[in-house]
Amino acid sequence: THEGILRRQASRESAARTYARSLPIVPVRARGMTIEGADGRRYLDCLSGAGTLALGHNHPVVLEAIRSVLDSGAPLHVLDLATPVKDAFTSELFATLPAGLAASARVQFCGPAGTDAVEAALKLVRTATGRDGLLAFSGAYHGMTAGALAVSGRAPSVRVARLPFPQDYRCPFGVGGDEGAHLAARWTESLLDDPASGVRPPAGMIVEPVQGEGGVLPAPDSWLRRMRDLTAARGIPLIADEVQTGVGRTGAFWAVEHSGVVPDVMVLSKAIGGSLPLAVVVYRDSLDVWQPGDHAGTFRGNQLAMAAGTATLRHVRENGLSQRAAALGERMLARLRPLVAEHDCVGDVRGRGLMMGVEIVDPEGAAHAAPWPGAEPGPGRATARVPLPAGPALATAVQQECLRRGLIVELGGRHDCVVRLLPPLTITDEQAEAVLERLSDAIATVSR
Ligand code: PMP
Repeated sequence: THEGILRRQASRESAARTYARSLPIVPVRARGMTIEGADGRRYLDCLSGAGTLALGHNHPVVLEAIRSVLDSGAPLHVLDLATPVKDAFTSELFATLPAGLAASARVQFCGPAGTDAVEAALKLVRTATGRDGLLAFSGAYHGMTAGALAVSGRAPSVRVARLPFPQDYRCPFGVGGDEGAHLAARWTESLLDDPASGVRPPAGMIVEPVQGEGGVLPAPDSWLRRMRDLTAARGIPLIADEVQTGVGRTGAFWAVEHSGVVPDVMVLSKAIGGSLPLAVVVYRDSLDVWQPGDHAGTFRGNQLAMAAGTATLRHVRENGLSQRAAALGERMLARLRPLVAEHDCVGDVRGRGLMMGVEIVDPEGAAHAAPWPGAEPGPGRATARVPLPAGPALATAVQQECLRRGLIVELGGRHDCVVRLLPPLTITDEQAEAVLERLSDAIATVSR
């Protein structure tokens, strides 16, 4: 059945299918971090449904929550009616929100995907400000529907000013660290304040605290605070897209908490549904300008997803899984960092909490002294040799070697050459050890 299913689906599904190309697996059973295929092979899953499975596959508290709704005879589909299941979910969600937002928060259920909540957030700030343009960042990923795509890094758009996202390693100015972040912030300020820049007062700014699909790039805390200050000073709502970074993933319940930044709007999905589809926008009530029916959607009342989500949020909170993610992520990153010195094809190791990335680079490119053509090394500037991205071929080879060793990883980043690790927050020390071993072995095999 394994080969037959793979063959039939390859011939039936659209040319856009993605994960199924690089991961020829037919999952039939899963528990925690382990997936078992129809061919009997077992894998450690470091993709976690693209960061969705905070508690791994089929966690008992999630299954129990779903079962209790099914057994209670409650309706599964209720549009946006109030139910005890929804009441429990909003109570749990509001209990986790950053203090500065919780006191005055409103929630809009969207659905069912992250991209739907992004659309709602963009529409909300446009309605509230009466303005149209948006500020978004290079390398961003917010989804695949029209508005979300327009604020994502790869899509051109006339209504969106694309600002530089600071990157410690591949700063758009050819300098890294604090100086790069400072320059990125200055550029943003000058675009907003120079009438000749063509950037009209925007409706909002949307930012990921850690870019995930963009290649696991954590926004420096000081830069994020600057974005908060400059948007607040100009009356621009700040939207934090925590679709991937939320629910403990980065070592805080919400990634904005690392910087202390309180956004005006938060876009939440993935883990908040405990592996079922659920997406919401949470925002300051001063932005709540919508008239009844201004935002709607048939599937914004998914009772099973709310129950699974309540159980997940509670389990993460009560068991200190954010703190666990912070500590284990630091340990895993410390073990991965030496790979940069050990292998010419590893250019960078970075991340926050259990959102980690290993960038595969062109071993021949290791001799490039300046990060960018024309970038002059100067005082305080990164003079390190910055290798060029490998492009997908070498990174794909690493991914396939991982798969052979029973480890599922995904690739991301502008050149698809960042190996992304998103294990469940419930990963054990032994499993973490196995992940590190299999990934290191895979890289050693490819770089030989
Ligand atoms: N925002 C971010 C930060 C994401 O990582 C994603 C999905 N990877 C989305 C939005 C879109 O979510 P969905 O795929 O559920 O539409």
